[in-house]
Amino acid sequence: MLKRTNGVKIKINQERGDDVVPRCLNCGNETSFVSSSIQSGTPWMSSKDSSVAAHFADGQVRHVENHGAPHDITNEAFQRPESYFDTCHQCGSTNLQWP
Ligand SMILES: [Zn+2]
Repeated sequence: MLKRTNGVKIKINQERGDDVVPRCLNCGNETSFVSSSIQSGTPWMSSKDSSVAAHFADGQVRHVENHGAPHDITNEAFQRPESYFDTCHQCGSTNLQWP
């Protein structure tokens, strides 16, 4: 679908048009989150053992990094980020606020 933002049409890969960017209430991060519910067998960040990470921009998920999670789960996380991403990638806090 197409969403009009500031006169520019951008393609978004979700059916909804609402902004879905969470915010870390601890450090204010609004761009990068990981999921504590999708564990990785091979930790890839110092203290984070999630196997997926989402990067948000302009009110939507820009991309989901997959570090060993099943493809289905990655797609699911992309479609319903609020159900998966619950941990701040910057500070590790789970005190997130979703719109
Ligand atoms: Zn944070």
